[in-house]
Amino acid sequence: MRDNIVFSEQAKELAAKAREIAEKYVRPSCAKYDQLQEYNWDAARAVAQAGLFKTFVPKEYGGHGAGVLALAMVTEELAKADSGFGVAFAVNALGSFPIILGGTEEQKQKWLPQIARGEKFVAFCLSEKFAGSDAGGLSVTAVEDGDHYVICGEKKWTTNGGVADIYSVFCVTDPTSKSRRISALVVEKGTPGFSVKKIENKMGIRTVPVVETHFDHVRVPKSNLIGGRPGMGFKHAMMTLDCARPGVAAQAVGAAQGALDLALVYANRRRQFDAPISSFQMVQKMLADMAMKTEAARWLVYSAAAQIDAGRTDGVTKYAAMAKCFATDTAMEVATDAVQIFGGYGFMEDYPIAKCFRDAKILQIYEGTNQIQRLVIARNLIKEANELAHLEAYVPQESQQSYSDAPAKTGAPARA
Ligand SMILES: Cc1cc2nc3c(=O)[nH]c(=O)nc-3n(C[C@H](O)[C@H](O)[C@H](O)COP(=O)(O)OP(=O)(O)OC[C@H]3O[C@@H](n4cnc5c(N)ncnc54)[C@H](O)[C@@H]3O)c2cc1C
Repeated sequence: MRDNIVFSEQAKELAAKAREIAEKYVRPSCAKYDQLQEYNWDAARAVAQAGLFKTFVPKEYGGHGAGVLALAMVTEELAKADSGFGVAFAVNALGSFPIILGGTEEQKQKWLPQIARGEKFVAFCLSEKFAGSDAGGLSVTAVEDGDHYVICGEKKWTTNGGVADIYSVFCVTDPTSKSRRISALVVEKGTPGFSVKKIENKMGIRTVPVVETHFDHVRVPKSNLIGGRPGMGFKHAMMTLDCARPGVAAQAVGAAQGALDLALVYANRRRQFDAPISSFQMVQKMLADMAMKTEAARWLVYSAAAQIDAGRTDGVTKYAAMAKCFATDTAMEVATDAVQIFGGYGFMEDYPIAKCFRDAKILQIYEGTNQIQRLVIARNLIKEANELAHLEAYVPQESQQSYSDAPAKTGAPARA
């Protein structure tokens, strides 16, 4: 399937490297790190050495400039072995996109080469205790003070927090403005007043830390204001999410494929009634549905990513949301069926399939819940419906006496 012409040689090579690292450094130890809730530094170093952090960084700044499709393929391979490690990788792209998409030349030169080399890890701080889906309702402030901004407040659920060196932090810089209220600033680890306060105890993706980040009068130079102009933060956040959602969707495809692969192996091995359970039609139906949905999700993700790489601007938000929503719902469904196929063993923490199930749930929640994705998709569809004016004649009109008047007035095909 990967031989299809839509993939560049470079993307295929990067995905192959990711697969190798996943099998060597990620899969064998993910149960241990899951239990301890620790970050897999060996795997992260291997990813850096293999140059995989270069995937999403443009060539001019030391990256491969391989694009969002390659980023999705690499993330998928890592997530297949451990969904938590998949996001531990992909969140670096999420945190870097504000700089890549909105940063000044100086900011790109300063931070992107270090990120590409895997010397510095990145995090994305948008969510707060009281501002999740409603990202416009942030309360962390950044107040101008001479050549600096002073940041105060708390961010919730920062993935990679503590591990990361560079944090893209979304703050209120103009509380009086509706459209230009928010700006994004880079905060580097070690800046006085910046700390990681609470490491969350999570249901899943326990191999990546998710933390509260606290800002107690953190002074950052104005040169850290992403894009150099205040008020661009909301735009940068939305542009970032469009590019990053295929990444989380790819994590979901990897998670689904990982669960399906385990279920297939087990279904062939497990015998009941003197036959492998894979010979029973109800199990076969589950396997077939799992495979179909995973494959459909994969191509929706690749399609959204390819459109971003092609520089399309129209419809990208909708496709990124569709990919995120469909792939993550799929991952949850596939993981649920995989546990079912494992029977009682699926419910035990002795085998990785239980972890696949726990890891899947968050996919439907972060980077915008799937309810929010559906809102985004529907809003875009409703806007696009203006282009369907030529179908007006085929739907009941307000002035019609009855539904069946339509064909006579419009020449549209008669209804039975
Ligand atoms: C493990 C984890 C890691 C995370 N990592 C990061 C990170 O790295 N950076 C970051 O910035 N954030 C991160 N988040 C935050 C995540 O993006 C938010 O949790 C998510 O956007 C939802 O916000 P919320 O939890 O406040 O839920 P709420 O917004 O309070 O939503 C609660 C429920 O209401 C529904 N809802 C809300 N508004 C609507 C609406 N208008 N219509 C219909 N339904 C609605 C939601 O879909 C949801 O079901 C992470 C969260 C978790 C749990």
